[in-house]
Amino acid sequence: MISVEDHLARCVRAVRPLDPIELELLDAQDCVLAEDVVSPLDLPGFDNSAMDGYAVVTADVASASEEQPVRLPVVADLPAGSTRELRLSAGEAARIMTGAPLPQGAEAVVPVEASDGGLETVALRASVADGQHVRRAGSDVHQGDTVLTAGTLLGPAQLGLLAAVGRDRVVVHAPPRVVILSTGSELVDPGTLPGYGQVVDSNGVMLAAAAVDAGARPRRVGVVRDEPEAFLKALESELSGADLVITSGGVSAGAYDTVKEVLSGLGTVWFGKVAMQPGMPQGFGTVGPDQTPIFTLPGNPVSAFVSFEMFVRPVIRRLAGHQGLFRRSETAVALDSWSAPPGKLQLARGELCRTEDGRRVVRLTGQQGSHVLGGLARAGALVVVPEQVTRVEAGDEVRCLVLDRRRR
Ligand code: AMP
Ligand code: MG
Repeated sequence: MISVEDHLARCVRAVRPLDPIELELLDAQDCVLAEDVVSPLDLPGFDNSAMDGYAVVTADVASASEEQPVRLPVVADLPAGSTRELRLSAGEAARIMTGAPLPQGAEAVVPVEASDGGLETVALRASVADGQHVRRAGSDVHQGDTVLTAGTLLGPAQLGLLAAVGRDRVVVHAPPRVVILSTGSELVDPGTLPGYGQVVDSNGVMLAAAAVDAGARPRRVGVVRDEPEAFLKALESELSGADLVITSGGVSAGAYDTVKEVLSGLGTVWFGKVAMQPGMPQGFGTVGPDQTPIFTLPGNPVSAFVSFEMFVRPVIRRLAGHQGLFRRSETAVALDSWSAPPGKLQLARGELCRTEDGRRVVRLTGQQGSHVLGGLARAGALVVVPEQVTRVEAGDEVRCLVLDRRRR
């Protein structure tokens, strides 16, 4: 039996970040930048107003107050998008909207709130300092600045910045294409009411969603029956479009455990036991002409999920070019007592909360069987119980891997 740590290390070692590709901005969300991005332009591109109001020469309004407004003629009306080149002289005001170019000669903007909103002449009730309510050209980004560096994770704000500096495409590490095959003659597609002896393929959906969450682009192939030819055919037809293959089911010691039977024959996939609970039977290796990495996960939904978390997610993140491969962990005080198997790393499903006095606590989400999907769906964390620990008592401090997306 191999330890979780050793199995994880060899899985991660077996892959490299995928080659860079160029994607349209919205296709690059959650990808890792593979270039340094230099801005070809200033942001803002021109001096412009930060408020709706009146562009003025500051000396003209120096004495303006609530009691004694200064009245100036309004010589222009400048909406955002105005391309009019205007020179403002002393003694003049221009009505200006947020984002409109500041006329030459203007030094500041008096907000509309401090005016009577006049169109021909305006009464201004406040003085302004030089540059007040003005956004200077280049004050955000200078032409030639490196605005994002390779390795940055692209989210909404980074994609917005790329658009602002003129990009509609960007070079990123290719998001891994992950093919997901669910094996089992008992399985039926989601949306089908299972008959007697049948089970809905929940792993397919769950693993595909987990792959998206890890930064991959999944393809859920669907159900493959426990027949060697059917499995081989499905696998072969999917290989060319895959950077990684994940199967679930068919790797135990039973008869009809097709995945193990077929892949053992190829000799490039390791099958064995990893010292963990749940999820002992694992397989990892490569298949096909391009030596595509493959994980063969156990079929029990909780085992499949935990195996994905422990081994597949870090591998996907490495393929996708991420620096950090692992979940954040937190310590919490256990509210329950429970047993753990000797010599195995236990990954119990837990619900992390904070007490009123701010302490982190964790309780188990009920029954811990490897088929208990309901408890998994309530779990915001995996409680990690080390190999040598055989009992957790209420009040013990435990380490938790944080899964909860709302708390990430
Ligand atoms: P296996 O690993 O094929 O022996 O399957 C172990 C258990 O997991 C069995 O009860 C299967 O019915 C169940 N199972 C296998 N694959 C799936 C799946 N894709 N979705 C839900 N349950 C599954
Ligand atoms: Mg099976």
